[in-house]
Amino acid sequence: MSTRGMLIVLSGPSGVGKGTVRKAMLKNSSIKFDYSVSMTTRQMRPGEVDGVDYYFRTNEEFEEEISNDGMLEYAKYVDHYYGTPLKYVNQKLDAGIDVLLEIEVNGAMQVREKMPDGVFIFLTPPDLTSLRDRITHRGTDDEKTIDKRMEKAKKEIQMMTSYDYAVVNDKIPNAVEKIEGIIRSEHLRVARVIDQYKKIIGD
Ligand code: 5GP
Repeated sequence: MSTRGMLIVLSGPSGVGKGTVRKAMLKNSSIKFDYSVSMTTRQMRPGEVDGVDYYFRTNEEFEEEISNDGMLEYAKYVDHYYGTPLKYVNQKLDAGIDVLLEIEVNGAMQVREKMPDGVFIFLTPPDLTSLRDRITHRGTDDEKTIDKRMEKAKKEIQMMTSYDYAVVNDKIPNAVEKIEGIIRSEHLRVARVIDQYKKIIGD
């Protein structure tokens, strides 16, 4: 029987660069994990692909998934639903494959309740000015939405204390290196490996 995979939750304010960090990590062959594609009701941005960046769904479709207990977690973020389909996560973890979620803080706290043995990593911006710059340069949101996202970001940063690790995203390669280090160390935790040793010593 293979060891159950590890759930890695990468969270933090919108615009902090979670997506960029996740993509950079996927390219690094030394760390293997599968990414759980989220479901959302927000509009598709130019260049995004359904089923790759998100599963883009209507409000009705999303709410149906909720009532069918199909979501591991979900949150309303800036007027839209975002959530993690449960089935995919369980299938991968059962197969011994690590799964990475890239989600906002309310969702991360729901996952913490349901899957407390996950690894919860909070990605922080070096400061709030650089966060605003990043969201503005992305060019996908109007001023009002940017203001809303910034207000939300301040509240989100206060929630850092509920996480296991805080990683500053000053430069992508630095953040990636730190997260890889966290994942490697977490795999060596006695609580995660003890079952294998119990087999050797016959319980
Ligand atoms: P964006 O609209 O910029 O793609 O995402 C907005 C926020 O929703 C980001 O902080 C992003 O990480 C978060 N998000 C993406 N997918 C999920 C999800 O499945 N669940 C939750 N709770 N948040 C998500």
